[in-house]
Amino acid sequence: MTTLAARRLLLVHAHPDDESIGTGATMAYYAASGAQVTLVTCTLGEEGEIHVPALAGLAAAEADQLGGYRIAELAAACAALGVTDHRFLGGAGRYRDSGMMGLPTNDQPRAFWQADLDTAAGYLVEVMREVRPQVLVTYDPNGFYGHPDHIQAHRVAMRAAELATAEGFGPDKIYWTAMPKSVLEAGMTAFAESADNPFAGIEQPEDLPFGSPDDQIVARIDGTDQHAAKEAAMRAHATQIPDNSWLYSIAGNFGSEFMGVEYYTLAVGTKGPGAGPYGWEDDLFAGLTPDPAADPAESVAVVGAPSTVPVTPAEAGVR
Ligand SMILES: [Zn+2]
Repeated sequence: MTTLAARRLLLVHAHPDDESIGTGATMAYYAASGAQVTLVTCTLGEEGEIHVPALAGLAAAEADQLGGYRIAELAAACAALGVTDHRFLGGAGRYRDSGMMGLPTNDQPRAFWQADLDTAAGYLVEVMREVRPQVLVTYDPNGFYGHPDHIQAHRVAMRAAELATAEGFGPDKIYWTAMPKSVLEAGMTAFAESADNPFAGIEQPEDLPFGSPDDQIVARIDGTDQHAAKEAAMRAHATQIPDNSWLYSIAGNFGSEFMGVEYYTLAVGTKGPGAGPYGWEDDLFAGLTPDPAADPAESVAVVGAPSTVPVTPAEAGVR
């Protein structure tokens, strides 16, 4: 029997590249600190736009080979993040990218949007049975920004957690990716005069399909030391993210914090100790007791690693 790592993090994402853009710093941070990081990607991203002219013929309407190509991009991204355990839900090609909401691709028989919830959740339960994650990361009920595959990833992850919990190995905490409104406001201000403004046409954070009030954010993961790994992982998804993307240029305005700091709301579990005006945790494992069944060698390493700042529950604003 293999021994489990002391800290085990499972992330459920919709398409290759979502892991790097949304949670790359978090994944690199925990991989570097010795935690077990498992990524499950639900589709191959077959319907993505292609930003490399020489590869344009791979598109869904042409050779329809983009999904296979993106397996290699995802592998390279995971290597950059230091993540060695990545899987596709139900195996590579089980579910197809549904395309943007309302498109005919939503109705394809293999589209993830058409997936039977319990069947898809069953594949994820099998991963949970093996990995036994204490922490699960996925999207909020709107899939962070409304893409059908992101909404479906949320539903599948939450259903799988429910089923795993009924069997006694559900995650202790479930986080949803989030963006604080204060960070969006700062971004809008910083880009107001830029010709490359990702917020063009947006007058207030409420106009965006995402953004959470700061007092609803529960965790702020500072992976600024891993910002280069996150950028390298994003660059591995070259078909999806052009070299001149604002995702890279924004780093010039915000520095490594834009790339390296990621935020979460807590959907299931008890908030651990944190700091600052809202008691934000700086560790997704904050407040969890170490797993007695875990590898003792790794547990020792974890004890020596910086994690949570001890504060009283009152200071932390524990709910
Ligand atoms: Zn996506």
